[in-house]
Amino acid sequence: PEVPVGALLAGAATRFGDRTAFAHGPDALSYTTLVESACRFAHALAARGVGRGDTVALHLPNCLTYPVAYFGTLLAGATFTPANPLLPAPALAAQLADAGARVTVTAGRAAATLAEARSATAVELTITPDPGGPGELDLAAFTADQPATPPPVAVDPADLAHLAYTGGTTGRSKGVRIPHRNVVVNALQCACWTTGCVPDTDAAGNPVLRQTGPAEEWPEQVGTGVALNLTPWFHAMGTVGSLVIPLLTGTTIVLHDRFDPPAYLADAERLRVTRMGGAPTLFAALLACPDIATRDLSAVRLVTSGAAPLPASTIRALQRHLPNAVVAEGYGLTEVTMGAVFSPAWRSGTRRPGSVGVPLFDTEVAVRPPDGTGGPLPPGTPGEVWLRGPQVMAGYHRRPDETAAVLVDGWLRTGDIGVLDADGYLSIVDRTKDMLIYKGYNVYPRQLEELLLAQAGVAAAAVVGRPAGDVGELPVAFVVRTHDGVTADELLAAVNAQVLPYQRLRELRFVESIPVSAAGKVLKRELRERLGATRL
Ligand code: ATP
Repeated sequence: PEVPVGALLAGAATRFGDRTAFAHGPDALSYTTLVESACRFAHALAARGVGRGDTVALHLPNCLTYPVAYFGTLLAGATFTPANPLLPAPALAAQLADAGARVTVTAGRAAATLAEARSATAVELTITPDPGGPGELDLAAFTADQPATPPPVAVDPADLAHLAYTGGTTGRSKGVRIPHRNVVVNALQCACWTTGCVPDTDAAGNPVLRQTGPAEEWPEQVGTGVALNLTPWFHAMGTVGSLVIPLLTGTTIVLHDRFDPPAYLADAERLRVTRMGGAPTLFAALLACPDIATRDLSAVRLVTSGAAPLPASTIRALQRHLPNAVVAEGYGLTEVTMGAVFSPAWRSGTRRPGSVGVPLFDTEVAVRPPDGTGGPLPPGTPGEVWLRGPQVMAGYHRRPDETAAVLVDGWLRTGDIGVLDADGYLSIVDRTKDMLIYKGYNVYPRQLEELLLAQAGVAAAAVVGRPAGDVGELPVAFVVRTHDGVTADELLAAVNAQVLPYQRLRELRFVESIPVSAAGKVLKRELRERLGATRL
């Protein structure tokens, strides 16, 4: 449907009214309150002359202000740009300046960093629930006396909804331009996948979900779910997955101040959580928490993992501890709003370990030669993953050359290496930027990581390349072990016995932890730096 995000908000208010949309400790927002508060925020922005063509940055941790400011921004016709609240001031200033943000919403400790960064940006207005710094406006005062009805702003489905920044895992973070219609369509694509519904419209023409088959087949049921939020909302998986999709599924999102596994597991039991979604490293942290064995998690029906490869050992452990849950994987990028390929979530669906699944509806996947020339490769042959669908971005912000390099004839080149099987299931082999070349052969670090993780005593592992002169790069492993009894020689021998000579691990270092980004991705460039091997 060609509608702006505000139409989803209107549909949710009618359908889910008093249900809790977001719960944070003792505080909660119902769907009705969320919509009313977002409308007040939108009117307040409009009263200050902020609207179409303006950008509002949310520089906030996950909190109840977030959804209000996010939807308020979109209802006002302005563009939302998320900023990681942990960014140091210079990086924050660079991102806000690149985005051209005029307004920022901030809170808590993040406010001090923003105050430091502000002079190097175009920010004119800073709104916060806890004002104190110079030039900060009190959120309550900002929205007081504003009407709780939608502002009379005509938002076009082609208008820019998100200016979302990529994770910066492989290099400099880029601004991605996502129109309203992409957000609506990607939310529908993903919500239908887990609920077995089809898109429909309510009497007012707003998108809603309609159940078609037996609801028990699907792990998520409209208007009943409770989801444990494991993702930061400044990342695509958080924005679309935890803020927008619930407007269709009527899910209650349970949020926390910080990543604290025992607190998460306690809430999952207490609130009878039905769904968990996040990045593999976050699941690994939950699984490493002893409480997982004693908490009653029998209500969990769906686990969705995305953002990075989900190791087979993590899938097995999740299935052991969450016997009633379907463990489904999703593959996506900021450049496709959020998701493009999902493993079947319905109970009788075939999930293939190691595969991220099949395309969402209206989405096409092709695997082509990594040099960008030539047609699709036959099944079983690794190549670059190309994606096409209504969720693909409009382009990078102020980077025409980089846009032209990745958007080709309506297709998006993902920079990921994947392989399709004969049934159309996609497996992600690695990222082109992480792949190593040794004596002309391709070496995929991810394969070595999987083999390491399958060894007893390995808690976490990451493999990067050490330059080796003219022959290319040699794979080096960083490993977190569970106890001191495990030796490097044993692990090297166990892995190297299973790979071809040119793929062998040449070195293994034990470390206390593997560096991960706020979104839960392994930061390989930091590991390369430790080897003195910067390649970007
Ligand atoms: P940058 O592009 O700036 O380096 P980033 O890649 O972290 O940052 P995102 O858009 O957050 O930016 O991440 C998209 C990437 O995450 C994909 O290209 C892919 O490499 C990886 N990814 C996402 N889902 C999966 C998955 N299920 N399995 C394996 N990799 C995944």
